Amino acid sequence: MAFSQADMIDPFGRSISYLRVSVTDRCDFRCTYCMAEDMTFLPKRDLLSLEELDRMCSVFIEKGVRKLRLTGGEPLVRKNIMSLVRALSRHLDSGALEELTLTTNGSQLVRFADELAECGVTRINVSLDTLDPEKFRAITRWGELSKVMAGIDAAQKAGLRIKINAVALKGFNDQELPAMLEWANGRGMDLTVIETMPMGEIDADRTDQYLPLSKLRADLERRFTLTDIPYKTGGPARYVDVAETGGRLGFITPLTHNFCESCNRVRLTCTGTLYMCLGQEDAADLRAPLRASEGNELLSQAIDEAIGRKPKGHDFVIDRRTRRPAVSRHMSVTGG
Ligand code: SAM
Ligand code: SF4
Repeated sequence: MAFSQADMIDPFGRSISYLRVSVTDRCDFRCTYCMAEDMTFLPKRDLLSLEELDRMCSVFIEKGVRKLRLTGGEPLVRKNIMSLVRALSRHLDSGALEELTLTTNGSQLVRFADELAECGVTRINVSLDTLDPEKFRAITRWGELSKVMAGIDAAQKAGLRIKINAVALKGFNDQELPAMLEWANGRGMDLTVIETMPMGEIDADRTDQYLPLSKLRADLERRFTLTDIPYKTGGPARYVDVAETGGRLGFITPLTHNFCESCNRVRLTCTGTLYMCLGQEDAADLRAPLRASEGNELLSQAIDEAIGRKPKGHDFVIDRRTRRPAVSRHMSVTGG
């Protein structure tokens, strides 16, 4: 295409090198903190086609994106998703892209692990909040733990490195997190715990679920020796070494900590809307400029304008008075 790889720099001097792409808003689970049980999904005609997603991602890569993460909804339930992964892998081959990865609930990994590895994916994030089959069914409403476990086995066998992401939920998995840490680190996987974020209307009351990670860390420190380390994976997690397991534990604390200063990312939805900040409503429509012409000039301009509006940061609050989420869209729209 016409332009060479250059940096996208936002108004606060941050270089935007990380694009997260939600390839579908649909999912085979209904995690209680993420979705309501009766979600209304987008009509299929509103979605970008896989070819359009490829074109969109390729323009971002030409404009300086070095790391691309596919997410959702559940990325692996999008029909023919592997054709997109395969197409995008050409940017790994050319060296333009450093990393192509995905965040998944693991339910389809048995089917796709080998092919992901063949396409140059080297590591993935698997979201898993409990190792108890009944609790797993309760939190995901529809999920089966044994399938996810088989998926993790398949992914490791295919040579994919795995990071486990667990949302810390008060009264649900706080007691279990030490055992999850031992399990994950024992299998050579990092564990990252995430604070719940007030996004989208769900059926539960979020103020009941919120578990500050500072408290979790203090609890874990009664059992484990945790040492802060400068390890970074390009995301907002802060990591510690765990002496007893020889592994790593990460904390993502959007509510108690501001990680915006070093934010290098933007998020694209499956309809081509670009969110410049997870915690703000401002967004740019990239689907119209994408579809307006066959060339990429209009799209490239629209991306520049959007990056020029990237806000300094967010201010998530779980509003105790109204009990409404700070951001009305669900996490499955932007993929976290
Ligand atoms: N379906 C895939 C999965 O679960 O990994 C990818 C999409 S999911 C929206 C991405 C991540 O967001 C998951 O790790 C999930 O646990 C997390 N998540 C969803 N809703 C959340 C919320 N309200 N607060 C914090 N994390 C949330
Ligand atoms: Fe689906 Fe992931 Fe949301 Fe769970 S967290 S409902 S698996 S998109």
